[in-house]
Amino acid sequence: MNKITIAIDGHSSCGKSTMAKDLAREIGYVYIDTGAMYRAVTLFCIQNGFIKDETIDTEELQKHMNDISITFQLNPNTGKPDTYLNGVCVENKIRTLEVSSKVSYVAALGFVREAMVDLQRLMGEAKGVIMDGRDIGTVVFPNAELKIFVTASDEIRAQRRYDELIAKGEKCNMEEILANIRERDRIDSTRAVSPLRKADDAIVLDNSHMTIPEQKAWLLAQFQRVAKG
Ligand code: C5P
Repeated sequence: MNKITIAIDGHSSCGKSTMAKDLAREIGYVYIDTGAMYRAVTLFCIQNGFIKDETIDTEELQKHMNDISITFQLNPNTGKPDTYLNGVCVENKIRTLEVSSKVSYVAALGFVREAMVDLQRLMGEAKGVIMDGRDIGTVVFPNAELKIFVTASDEIRAQRRYDELIAKGEKCNMEEILANIRERDRIDSTRAVSPLRKADDAIVLDNSHMTIPEQKAWLLAQFQRVAKG
């Protein structure tokens, strides 16, 4: 089988990373969660006081972009990669509603995107990679051999995110989560730089009524079809 690049884009909280992680484990590919990278930059802004509500001190952030190091390390207990910001595991901290409510503003900044896209291209240059995000098939790897665009109804996505946060013991409320998902989709789809959109050659998957094993089987079949070449 040929080593390929798999780009998975789509709306917020539609299970892209679950599908991508599962497939990566099954076929021995590297999985890169690019949303985690934008979340880590957002956490860096919060920790350093560069962001208040929706206002970002872009000058300060730009000055400190070189102080941000984002890496991934496989967690032997979960079998999934954890995100590290400057050597510290921030996997739980980047998933809070506080980070979720600010990340789309940070991700809309051109200089942040440039730095993240450079890093993503470096991480994926050897192929054999599955990357999920919003602009992977359109900007990061426009020549990816397999591109998937995932979506699901707003309500189902909110329910999934709610269940995930509750399982982690976070206090949360459904309306707040639904509003956050809709707002992030709105900002992500309308921003000037690399807006979220389906690549012309991406296959659409609406997984609203699919179980996780069904999605896994569907994605594996897509991979086998393309990688067989
Ligand atoms: O995938 P996740 O929901 O964790 O991504 C968090 C946010 O990061 C998105 O709402 C979006 O604003 C931003 N993002 C992006 N481009 C990517 C991945 C994520 O703008 N490739």
